[in-house]
Amino acid sequence: MNLTEIISRTQVDEVATLLGRAKKVVITCHMTPDGDALGSSLALANILAARGYYAHVVTPDTPPRSLDFLPGVCDIVIASRYTEKARMLLTTADLIFCLDYNAIKRIDRLGPLLEQAKAPRVMVDHHLDPEPMADVVISHPEASSTCSLLYHLIDALGWAADISPEAATCIYTGMLTDTGNFSYNSNDPDLYLIIARLLERGLDKDRVYTLAWNTNRPNRLRLCGYALCHKMQLIQPHKMALTILTRGELDEYGYIKGDTEGLVNKPLSIPGIVYSAYIRQDEDNYVKVSMRSVGDFPVNLICEQLFGGGGHLNAAGGEYHGPLDEAVKKLLDALPDYDRYLPADTTTATCNNNQ
Ligand code: 5GP
Ligand code: MN
Repeated sequence: MNLTEIISRTQVDEVATLLGRAKKVVITCHMTPDGDALGSSLALANILAARGYYAHVVTPDTPPRSLDFLPGVCDIVIASRYTEKARMLLTTADLIFCLDYNAIKRIDRLGPLLEQAKAPRVMVDHHLDPEPMADVVISHPEASSTCSLLYHLIDALGWAADISPEAATCIYTGMLTDTGNFSYNSNDPDLYLIIARLLERGLDKDRVYTLAWNTNRPNRLRLCGYALCHKMQLIQPHKMALTILTRGELDEYGYIKGDTEGLVNKPLSIPGIVYSAYIRQDEDNYVKVSMRSVGDFPVNLICEQLFGGGGHLNAAGGEYHGPLDEAVKKLLDALPDYDRYLPADTTTATCNNNQ
């Protein structure tokens, strides 16, 4: 069976032309890279290297340790640590890929380096409302991951046979993590055609599941248990769950980046809860907000309007520069404004905060 042609032939040809003229390729992804950002970047680097390109992945900041298993992760140039090397790679590149982001502010301090670089840019992304920041904008918000979209591009370029077991691991990781192990945004039959093909290319799907989805440090499990047991509040009138972790609590459990990945999804398993917010005090005056929802409830709108962020309808994030209690108050005060997006027919949650 063939995959649906979701990327137009014109765009595939444009990318092919740019690749035909390039030798040195830099691949960038968003800050605090997740499995999809890093998976798509490392997969593309691996495939390009196999085809004789000099390909480098440059990330704005350090990837979470939980993704250390991704092949090629050691070769990443982390711009916050190796700024001059990142600058040199970007200014000497003759083609730059922007994967899994669609706005310059998503790459933080890598932004000015990208803007100084003269090379043409190709964006491959699945977030809403792309900025016109690339020469070729391959933007498909209906795609569940950048990794699946990247597979479509590789296939359309006629390069699917260059996918190594390592690249297959990277592509599959992004597909798995951005769909919550194929539990949401995962009804597209093409996803399973892609998986079948990745298996043929040497993917060990069960191993990736264990590494990407079911490997925990003891402190991580304890922190998540603590958060759910003691910190999750159910705000019934708004069909909402709110979990807040302070800097002190994170320190107590030796928090490292990635430890609370997935925590924000947990309250959505409670019948009647429509959306969930997780607020993490990363620094005294810097707060990270993560939100998830079910159905048509637009958490991207809340993150955009209150926290300068955005994302997808059902998975979004933002940030607040200021004290934690101010961020929490801002959210709580605004909740009634979003009641109109709640479905009329949700059953009331059967749990309360004390159960
Ligand atoms: P997470 O909650 O896993 O950090 O992020 C979920 C999604 O929300 C990401 O895939 C991204 O689309 C979006 N997102 C998270 N943080 C931000 C942010 O600070 N700004 C914007 N524009 N989007 C964000
Ligand atoms: Mn993604």
